[in-house]
Amino acid sequence: MTDEQAAGTTPRTHEGRAAVVTGAARGIGQALCRGLAENGADVIGVDLEDLRETGAAVEKAGARWIAAQVDVTDAHAMAELATEVEDQLGGTHILINNAAIDDPISWDELDLDHWRRVLAVDLEAPFLTCKAFVPQMRAAGWGRIVNIASGSVLRAMPRFVAYRAAKMGLIGFTRALASEVGPDGITVNVASPGITVTKMALGSLDPEVVETESSRRAIPRIGEPDDMVGTVLFLTAEASAFVTGQTLLPNGGAAFV
Ligand code: NAD
Repeated sequence: MTDEQAAGTTPRTHEGRAAVVTGAARGIGQALCRGLAENGADVIGVDLEDLRETGAAVEKAGARWIAAQVDVTDAHAMAELATEVEDQLGGTHILINNAAIDDPISWDELDLDHWRRVLAVDLEAPFLTCKAFVPQMRAAGWGRIVNIASGSVLRAMPRFVAYRAAKMGLIGFTRALASEVGPDGITVNVASPGITVTKMALGSLDPEVVETESSRRAIPRIGEPDDMVGTVLFLTAEASAFVTGQTLLPNGGAAFV
């Protein structure tokens, strides 16, 4: 929270909005929950893991909080959550599809079960959450969906075939859905982080790759989860109503250096 926010002197740009964030227990998802709450949004956090730490940060920012410790691949759980949000907060305005697994594995070891497991979380789950929450956005005539992909789809890196296929799929999904729901006042965009200090990146990437990739950026450092907040606040803002189907790369300039 900035000093201005603490003093209550900056406009709370997301006041009156309810935001669903998947993968909210840690890493980038937790930072997004906090950032949205500090700007006035109520937050619904979804994760397989314990959400109490994120809930405490959201409530500290003065926002209302709903914790859903469920699997994003569970269509029934997503539909039930949509009903709960409607009952408690009156509907959903913002959806951030952030939960993902990368599960790196060589092409020779990659089998159909592994492929399907990655695609279920990284590509099918955003489809399920959009199915569950878009009707509430349509009813409100206002919605903002941000799908978190990965700048890595632009690069060749072995062992991530399923993950990259899913994230590229998410970009195509975003553009197609944007054109279907645009007339209803709903925007759909992608924010693609570069390497960011989280359990996912530190668990999957060789430290040398992290060091080399981070130092090659125009802003030569590794990303922090909070580095994603500005982009997501921009894409979900009232003023961004004409920005849709886009992919933004908040990665310190990694894409062009
Ligand atoms: P992370 O592993 O730290 O957090 C992911 C969260 O998603 C975890 O809390 C996990 O429990 C949750 N999750 C996973 N499967 C789930 C399921 N089936 N149901 C509910 N929750 C589930 O990862 P992160 O680095 O914070 O990644 C956030 C997003 O950013 C992901 O979409 C990831 O692909 C993307 N990304 C991250 C990096 C990076 O370097 N960290 C780079 C590019 C893209």
